[in-house]
Amino acid sequence: MSLSIAAAEPADAPIKQLIIDGKFVDAQSGRTFETRNPATGELLANVAEGDAADIEIAVAAARRAFEGPWSRFTPFQRQECLLKFADLVEKHFEELTRTDVLDMGMPITSALARKTRALGMIRFYAGMCTTIHGETLPNSFPGEVFSYTLKEPIGVVGAITPWNAPLTSTMWKLGPVLATGCTMVLKPAEDAPLTALRLGELLLEAGVPAGVVNVVPGFGHTAGAALAAHMDVDKIAFTGSDVTGRRIIEASKGNIKRVTLELGGKSPDVIFADCDMDLAVPGAGMGVFANTGQICCAGTRLLIERPIYEEFVARVSAYAKSLKVGDGMDPATQIGPVVNAKQLDRVTDYIGIGLGEGAVAAAGGARLTEGSLKDGFFIEPTVLSGVHNDMRVAQEEIFGPVASAIPFDTLEEAAAISNATPFGLGGGVWTQNVRTAHRMAKAIRSGTIWINTYGGLDPVVPFGGYKASGYGRESGLHHVDEYLQTKSVVMKL
Ligand code: NAD
Repeated sequence: MSLSIAAAEPADAPIKQLIIDGKFVDAQSGRTFETRNPATGELLANVAEGDAADIEIAVAAARRAFEGPWSRFTPFQRQECLLKFADLVEKHFEELTRTDVLDMGMPITSALARKTRALGMIRFYAGMCTTIHGETLPNSFPGEVFSYTLKEPIGVVGAITPWNAPLTSTMWKLGPVLATGCTMVLKPAEDAPLTALRLGELLLEAGVPAGVVNVVPGFGHTAGAALAAHMDVDKIAFTGSDVTGRRIIEASKGNIKRVTLELGGKSPDVIFADCDMDLAVPGAGMGVFANTGQICCAGTRLLIERPIYEEFVARVSAYAKSLKVGDGMDPATQIGPVVNAKQLDRVTDYIGIGLGEGAVAAAGGARLTEGSLKDGFFIEPTVLSGVHNDMRVAQEEIFGPVASAIPFDTLEEAAAISNATPFGLGGGVWTQNVRTAHRMAKAIRSGTIWINTYGGLDPVVPFGGYKASGYGRESGLHHVDEYLQTKSVVMKL
């Protein structure tokens, strides 16, 4: 099934340029690509289409800034830049939020609710600037030797981001880069590049020197691939799908650059019969449907203890049906559109695959095209019941508003099903039994486990994947280590 959207074509759609070395520039090729509102099809902007030639220039600018002006900034001066940047993001938060909503469809009410997290992330990393230091080491061998370590920025970072949360995923890359004294070439997703470009402008306004952060929108197989393979890039910080993650590993071989990967998931949300159902129904429901299911750690597999299976499926289905689907700009909207036609096809195809494998749509299951939804990519929040964990809908990441309900009988079985996918990003447990909660938290092989809540992220708490969900962590005290080299100095006294 292939779908196109009818679009208003404003003659005055702006042209957005790349940001390289502190300047706004066209792509070397002169080409642009369109970015559109997935709720209406409206053309938002024509964006300069960076490719390998632009990446080359941007990496050179990042290298000059790394060895030049930025290397002379003291930790306090970097901190000052980050704090000024945070203030500017706060001042322009509504505008940035609207940009996210228009570019990828996120409901504005939940986008605005991310303010504390978005600002917290930058201010958290501002605090980190002055805490980075090496150690003095008592030697274990006899002799008069003095050893210590230095922590040094790794250098030029290539950051490649997805479209599903443009503001926060860009912050996650910017924070540690600026705190450690690295520089960066950022390649935002082609489906939602506008927020990253605006953040690039605000960084310059905050006093971050030219070339420290370069923003080069473009396509993955051209700009992204060139960045991942570049011999003068010291690290790739990638967030996206596991399929692309594998390509990044391959591309990074040339200079053995460091790679961190924040990839996809198929996270279990385990609902025990003793849970507080009034909390668990909306909690697990929004654990899947928030941001229209386009969240890497979404709790897409609802594992439900058999005695409450029917009741829970009925209640979570009623909850799904109650959610207001619409344009993200409407403050009443709880579920926006999916990001583009390809994603619409992907999600509806997966629903068909699930039904073909024997699942039943207890809620939803179809595209919505009524009235004001006719030009957008809207899908009903869907609950598939009667799912077995070996079905494709339980094994593969759908990245849309689709929950798969799977029954279980014992804690051991719940743990085994939880772990029986290639992924290991998130996981949830709903129970009133403390022992059950901690046993499950230990048993699930995932980077983050939520107990009686789902999906909250705090800059202080590390986030990242086990297994095919990637390696490395974002957030938390040790995140900056991913951007640092440790140098050992050994001196004979
Ligand atoms: P994607 O992998 O298709 O694209 C991500 C980015 O990689 C984009 O900027 C894209 O242009 C670029 N890219 C594509 N091919 C490339 C290549 N060959 N070389 C270099 N770069 C390339 O993912 P997406 O569809 O944008 O985002 C959805 C995926 O991201 C989901 O799998 C989701 O789970 C994952 N995700 C993970 C996290 C996390 O923190 N773990 C957060 C958000 C999204």
